[in-house]
Amino acid sequence: FYAMQLPAALLNSLQGLKGFDKESFEEVHSSGQQITSIRLNPFKKADFQNQKSEIPWTEHGYYLETRPSFTFDPLFHAGCYYVQEASSMFLEQAFRKTTDLSKQLRVLDLCAAPGGKSTHIQSLISKDSLLVSNEVIRSRAAVLKDNIVKWGSPNVVVTNNDPKDFARLQNYFDVIVVDAPCSGSGLFRRDPAAITEWSENNVQLCSQRQQRILADIWPALKNDGILIYSTCSYSRQEDEEIVSWLKTEFSVAAITLPVDPGLGITISDGGCRFWPDKVKGEGFFIACFQKKEGDDYVALKIKGKAEPITNKERTIINNWVKSDGLSFVKHAETVYAWPEILYNDFNLLLGQLRVIYSGVLTGVLMRDKLVPDHALAMSDIFSASVGKIELAYEDAIKYLQRKELRLDTQFRGWHLAAFQGHPLGWINILPNRINNYYPKELRILKEL
Ligand code: SAM
Repeated sequence: FYAMQLPAALLNSLQGLKGFDKESFEEVHSSGQQITSIRLNPFKKADFQNQKSEIPWTEHGYYLETRPSFTFDPLFHAGCYYVQEASSMFLEQAFRKTTDLSKQLRVLDLCAAPGGKSTHIQSLISKDSLLVSNEVIRSRAAVLKDNIVKWGSPNVVVTNNDPKDFARLQNYFDVIVVDAPCSGSGLFRRDPAAITEWSENNVQLCSQRQQRILADIWPALKNDGILIYSTCSYSRQEDEEIVSWLKTEFSVAAITLPVDPGLGITISDGGCRFWPDKVKGEGFFIACFQKKEGDDYVALKIKGKAEPITNKERTIINNWVKSDGLSFVKHAETVYAWPEILYNDFNLLLGQLRVIYSGVLTGVLMRDKLVPDHALAMSDIFSASVGKIELAYEDAIKYLQRKELRLDTQFRGWHLAAFQGHPLGWINILPNRINNYYPKELRILKEL
């Protein structure tokens, strides 16, 4: 083990902060300890074998004893779990303690890539609720979309917008999560290389940007709506000072989350601080507010962009999808499944934002047939009559590498390729070979 050189300016700036203990803070950074944690997908219910213990503040989160190779675990690619830092899963408490999750909600995750918090939120809200998962950087938005597809729930719209674009949706959201871009000191233990990028100047720039983002998004939250703000920075300029700035700038009620004293979480000016020498997790800060101004949402005029499918197309789709509660729209020949109950919301968003994904991409219509999309395989909306072929471990890896499969089977045509019952994607079984439809850009490049 080596002594990790934390920036002196950072250590000095943390003096006097609640819960900061310089000696043990430095010690835990030099300990070499790494924590691995995952969150299971409650919609997929995998039989996850690894040695694990519960993360106390989240229902489906677990610490793993050792770090396995996620790349070579088919269940990882099937979307059965997400690898996520443990402290940040405290978002669940922010939801549970501020919001009635049995209600139909409109939730915005504003800074969402790569999707840890968005997939978590999807597991918390009801099926009738809407999640708008947004990321401003285009390449990161594409990764976000892939992770949303893998998680498999249809009640989400992925957007690629600047925070200020949301001003068009006045009073629309019940909950807005701002997991802000920050100076990142909270992740130094996990990623020591990031230390060289840290500077006091950058902390200042991040703090200003955080204020800008919050001011931009404020109109989109309805009166009495909940704002959840978080960072993975230790700096008070990005944490407590943002809390007090919000309180002076806007009409809000700050909400102090009740915290079990045994957990090692520090309450500091109403926010929750996670110090890595006090909790089993990395550095994290989270605070909640209730908006005390603005109005209820008044329905905006829908520009009506979605094109419904025809009855004939519906008959084709019914062979693939259990269509209860779903509406189908198409864009050229591409068909998307939308939750019926969210049809107006999805349509509205399509007219107001840069939507890059919505619902479940079902497939492409070609000459009276549907070519199913990978997203349909990852979802829970495919019909029970769709055939499923169970693959052994080595074949599952081959499939995920997009290699040629040889299976001894009488079946023909389109099937789901599955591992332990969980679909990995599509295959088409022809008389003389099997076509592998795993998406090229997702395939495993390494050899086992
Ligand atoms: N919530 C994500 C998760 O749990 O997986 C992590 C989000 S990360 C802390 C912050 C995100 O904000 C990054 O994806 C970054 O690209 C994005 N971002 C950067 N600048 C931004 C800006 N000016 N407005 C909004 N988001 C921004």
